[in-house]
Amino acid sequence: MKRNLSLLVSLFLFISVFASNEKAKYVFYFIGDGMGLNQVVMTEMFLAQKEGKIGAENLCFTSFPYTGLARTYSTDNSITDSAAGGTALATGVKTKNGTISMDREHKKPLKTIAERAKEKGNAVGILTSVSVDHATPASFYAHTPSRGMYYEIGTFLPKSDFDFFAGSGFISPDKKDDKSKQNLFTLFKDNNYKVIRGIKKYDKKSVEADKVILIQKEGKPIDSFPFAIDRDDDDLTLAQVTEKGIDFLSKKNKGFFMMVEGGKIDWSSHSNDAGTTIYEVLDMDKAVALAYEFYKQKPDSTLIVVTADHETGGLGLGVQGYTLMFDNFNSQKLSQSGLSKAIFKLFKEEKNISWDKFKNFIEEKTGLWGGFKPDENQEKAIRDSFENAIKKREQEKTKTEYSEDSALASLIIKTINRVSKVGWTSDTHTASYVPVYAIGVGADQFSGIMENVDIPNKVAEIAGY
Ligand SMILES: [Zn+2]
Repeated sequence: MKRNLSLLVSLFLFISVFASNEKAKYVFYFIGDGMGLNQVVMTEMFLAQKEGKIGAENLCFTSFPYTGLARTYSTDNSITDSAAGGTALATGVKTKNGTISMDREHKKPLKTIAERAKEKGNAVGILTSVSVDHATPASFYAHTPSRGMYYEIGTFLPKSDFDFFAGSGFISPDKKDDKSKQNLFTLFKDNNYKVIRGIKKYDKKSVEADKVILIQKEGKPIDSFPFAIDRDDDDLTLAQVTEKGIDFLSKKNKGFFMMVEGGKIDWSSHSNDAGTTIYEVLDMDKAVALAYEFYKQKPDSTLIVVTADHETGGLGLGVQGYTLMFDNFNSQKLSQSGLSKAIFKLFKEEKNISWDKFKNFIEEKTGLWGGFKPDENQEKAIRDSFENAIKKREQEKTKTEYSEDSALASLIIKTINRVSKVGWTSDTHTASYVPVYAIGVGADQFSGIMENVDIPNKVAEIAGY
């Protein structure tokens, strides 16, 4: 009896030691582009206020047991761009802004954790809500001195031999000034990739494909998925492609590494559009929730890390006083770009629209003049801009990083942000720490303050790349 017991104890010890040494066979690496801590806090507070409560509601990823903070500066700038930020998160080496996974002298390519995962025999997926050749996803499979070399970035995709790619499309499928260069889609096909456009076709075609590139269907913008707040039923979503990615990579039966980028938290933050930013964070959280469901099936072999490449906009939660009114964003139905398009359309249809009718239109689209109102000066500024546009029969435009919107739409969104007590210090990136959240095998490694480059190095160690 005694002997049996000690045998049992040794067996138990052996199993637990073995289990604790087990590597993460399945790695999910989520990057919220531009998702600083305040983008997350604002979203949590919005959820609480929407229910009439003061406080914060957890997102899926903010309920993870381990959290840390990461520094994001690049080698040449205190404030990183998405190329140097993506490179740091992909390779574990800081580089110069604008660079895609090469050293700061642009002499050597830097190996990425996705490439190391592939070498180790894992299946690999690279997913984003922007174009597949955009800085963050590119940093995981391409090596170019400049993030703007979209065609060249595309040529690295087949060389990676990764299994699953998803995003809106490719910015430069053809090399513009060199006709001798092969079209990227031909190149993909020649290398055994099946390019599938839209979810309906995917469900029919992916089964027999060995390697897949899932992009938006024909006629949709190729630079990105529409903002969650603006999208149509037939647009791809980050959660949708994540679900397909998990399914596709799981079927390879060999463990996987999957990078998923919520790419447009950055875009709406560049436009200082808080409502749209909240819905982008929630949208990425839906994709994280799918990874979390997977984790629950395989908790002993799965690691999920959620972080950001940098903060965008210098988002401040509070503008004089102690009351925040984030529930206002519950009535926002369009992004700044969406509102801009809607106003252009309205002015085309109704050349002499009255101020009252215009106000009703804005109330319907954003809630302004409904549950919450601008002050006298803010209303006057909007009215002046409106009358100017009507008189001149054209609208002034305002340009930010990723959009050129009507100045009137931009003023309205700014006013809504101000009334709701959201402040922005910049229309570019900032240097603040970004949050890191982790659950699963080795997740305890991701607490405390770290450099962005520590994150992939830890992932590589935990996964045994
Ligand atoms: Zn940006």
